[in-house]
Amino acid sequence: MKSVRLWSIRNARWLKKVYDGLEWILSLLEPILRRIGYDRLDKPFAAIEGVIKGFFFDSQSCGQCTLGETGMACPMNCPKTLRNGPCGGVRQNGGCEIKPDMTCVWVNAWEGSQQIGTPEETIKMIQPPVDNRLKGRSAWLRALRLRAGGLL
Ligand code: SF4
Repeated sequence: MKSVRLWSIRNARWLKKVYDGLEWILSLLEPILRRIGYDRLDKPFAAIEGVIKGFFFDSQSCGQCTLGETGMACPMNCPKTLRNGPCGGVRQNGGCEIKPDMTCVWVNAWEGSQQIGTPEETIKMIQPPVDNRLKGRSAWLRALRLRAGGLL
């Protein structure tokens, strides 16, 4: 929902703190989750994640979340699904080239990152191309596995 998504940008600072807290809890639980089996947990995690992130961020469940780097704005809401900054068509008023009544996702991302106070380098990080095979899978578990070295 657009209004909730914009609210989340305005409240990006504390939402990011909640997000970091969740990440910390999951990292503590990592050995247990690994024992149960990541593949077995993927569906229920993806379902919970889809509801939470869908509500707050209009997440498109790409499975490779960048919210932490993009000011809590989901770049998959960009009609061109640009994950590395805006296209050249952003309007003078910050509107999207394709959907003029929508603020460019990257304008939101910049505002959100300013709210959080993340260093400029964070939003400038080059994101890898989206891997469509991961769509609908749990990005939280994937991040956990990457950090634990389970996907290298
Ligand atoms: S203006 Fe922004 S949201 Fe619209 S297509 Fe370009 S980058 Fe995407």
